[in-house]
Amino acid sequence: MDEEKVRILVIEDEKPIAKILEYDLKKEGYEVRLAHTGADGMREVDAFEPHLILLDWMLPDLSGADILKILAERYDMPVIMLTARGNIDDKVYGLSCGADDYITKPFELREVNIRIRTVLRRFRKAGNPSEAKEKKEELYIKDAVICAQERTVLQCGEPVELTPKEFDLLCWLVRHPRYVFTRDRLLDEIWGYDFVGDTRTVDMHIQRLRKKLHAGETIITVFGVGYKYVPEE
Ligand code: CA
Repeated sequence: MDEEKVRILVIEDEKPIAKILEYDLKKEGYEVRLAHTGADGMREVDAFEPHLILLDWMLPDLSGADILKILAERYDMPVIMLTARGNIDDKVYGLSCGADDYITKPFELREVNIRIRTVLRRFRKAGNPSEAKEKKEELYIKDAVICAQERTVLQCGEPVELTPKEFDLLCWLVRHPRYVFTRDRLLDEIWGYDFVGDTRTVDMHIQRLRKKLHAGETIITVFGVGYKYVPEE
């Protein structure tokens, strides 16, 4: 991947959105190809051999979940889902189907670029593809291992009991290291757009996570903004 351009396949049926992404990603130096249906997308996966796929969750023919399933059986390339705002079920389901991250529409191009770089870096770090596949669903925070698929956390071999929302919040933060999230954004992502409550809910969950995982120095308060997860070096 050093000399050749990084290839990104965009599978998105809304052509204006696909065009904007194509324009922006090309400007960033990526080689980009567009597909407007799931079937076209699958053909391009073979023909174009992308390093990363941006996948719209709602396509006219195949669902995002169908495509992730086919990809997981046959390939090993990272996928970032594009989903409608506030549709938390889709996001959680997509991540459990093996998507590496997601972007909520409408999106900021700057955010898209950051997420692509983060996912590519993480994926390259994982090294050899077969190894990467086995490790795909494991996340780490300090001395704890998070298994996203089984929704379990082991710290020094001992299970840590988390509520579903604590677990989702933890996975979210760990999946986006060093990225600062406002309380509102976390509410939106974890509790859903329609959640009626206030940002103290987030504070309470963060406090409990820190306590349960002894993670005060890795889940950090950014004063006046929100929270971020900073992995230990
Ligand atoms: Ca769509």
